[in-house]
Amino acid sequence: MAIALLSLAVIIKILTDEKDLSDSEERMLTMYNPKSLKAEEFINHEEVLDTLAFAKKNKDNTRLIDTILEKAKLGKGLTHREASVLLACDIPEKIEEMYSLAEQIKKDLYGNRIVLFAPLYLSNYCVNGCVYCPYHQKNKHISRKKLTQEDIVREVTALQDMGHKRLAIEAGEDPVNNPIEYILESIKTIYSIKHKNGAIRRVNVNIAATSVENYRKLKEAEIGTYILFQETYHKESYERLHPTGPKHDYAYHTEAMDRAMEGGIDDVGLGVLFGLELYPYEFAALLMHAEHLEAVYGVGPHTISVPRIKGADDIDPDAFDNGISDEIFAKICALIRISVPYTGMIISTRESQSVRERVLHLGVSQVSGGSRTSVGGYYSPEQEDDKSEQFDVSDTRTLDEVVKWLIEKGYIPSFCTACYREGRTGDRFMSLCKSGQIQNCCHPNALMTLKEYLEDYASPETKEIGSVLIDKEITKVPNEKVKKIAMQNLIDISNGKRDFRF
Ligand code: SAM
Repeated sequence: MAIALLSLAVIIKILTDEKDLSDSEERMLTMYNPKSLKAEEFINHEEVLDTLAFAKKNKDNTRLIDTILEKAKLGKGLTHREASVLLACDIPEKIEEMYSLAEQIKKDLYGNRIVLFAPLYLSNYCVNGCVYCPYHQKNKHISRKKLTQEDIVREVTALQDMGHKRLAIEAGEDPVNNPIEYILESIKTIYSIKHKNGAIRRVNVNIAATSVENYRKLKEAEIGTYILFQETYHKESYERLHPTGPKHDYAYHTEAMDRAMEGGIDDVGLGVLFGLELYPYEFAALLMHAEHLEAVYGVGPHTISVPRIKGADDIDPDAFDNGISDEIFAKICALIRISVPYTGMIISTRESQSVRERVLHLGVSQVSGGSRTSVGGYYSPEQEDDKSEQFDVSDTRTLDEVVKWLIEKGYIPSFCTACYREGRTGDRFMSLCKSGQIQNCCHPNALMTLKEYLEDYASPETKEIGSVLIDKEITKVPNEKVKKIAMQNLIDISNGKRDFRF
């Protein structure tokens, strides 16, 4: 069929002798190829449509669904086609099976650890025209702000005083106001701040798609994960939703992770902004993106984020009619967990406490806490009123409240940043996951970093329940030698020492 379409396009071209192909003809010429470095070949529109048709046709095919669920139980993931069948299936018992499988995989691979982080907004200057984002260039009533290095010291000191060790820096795209040199200088400043026992040990970066050269510079600046949300994988919608500015270029944006890999960044974070396009399309394409990274670089995405569109200055989320319900959102999270078991999943404070609680069971492994989405919002929280924030936060609890809540729900809040500091990135991180050594490594690391948090930042109530949790959980480290060292480290932390890791 694809070959027939291809030759048809070629015949049309010869017959009409056109110099440029129209969009639809060009599409016919692009074939699905996960190993290709061209956006429209690894996120091939026809392949997504075929996948959706296949999923629709098989949504009640219980034999196929059972076979897919059996495969998923092996914990080695699913293809975008298989996962899309599960997403289309609306048989209640099968959905329940998907949920319990996601929970099981989550427990087996991540235990009960949840990593904590905070976003740090550096600048909301932006030259793009993204219609869903309050930073869009035409928004004249948002206050434009950019942190100076002195502001960053104040912000990071405030974040350290909360107990954060891991940040995700965020900035609009503006080559004049936020050039790469500004981002690099800011990263240097962040890593240099040592306030009391505090330190930011991992800086993840969420900035616009850039060049290989700039990705290399970010790698040299020792960033953790490079995060870039695709927003939507649907090319036509993408171009409509990004009408102006450099972000309009679908291929440049979609191929950003390939350039990041070329620049030496092997931990990359994908994401879709749910609500912009139909979710089955986004879901299939997101998994195709993960398959592409695996096929070309031998390592899938380090994380996947699942933001949903929110209200913000000049933005009405109801203007986007592809919003998804909490139920569908939970199903998507569960299916991401099943489909790419070794990829971390991130949920931000865009979501409420109750939604976060639900998806923690289903596979989320990282949450933000105490977040401010305004530029300069940590040092002076009253800035929330001055309309520089990116979106409304649903979960407004403090970090200590989030930590306490996680402990009460049976999770271990973790401030661990060890893997990347030990050079366990990309495929080396994936091998650790696949070797089954996580319980001897991530588990004690989580407990030791929680202990630091309890000693330095926690409220008395959080400290009390956290200490009980640590005493219980440390006994579960399987390797006796590691357990003994970790126990000694916990004592040393009580006595003032810091920063132990396996
Ligand atoms: N400027 C960078 C870029 O071009 O990718 C990324 C930084 S932006 C601060 C981070 C993300 O916020 C965007 O990728 C987008 O998905 C998300 N975002 C924008 N507007 C939003 C809204 N109204 N609700 C929820 N998330 C939004």
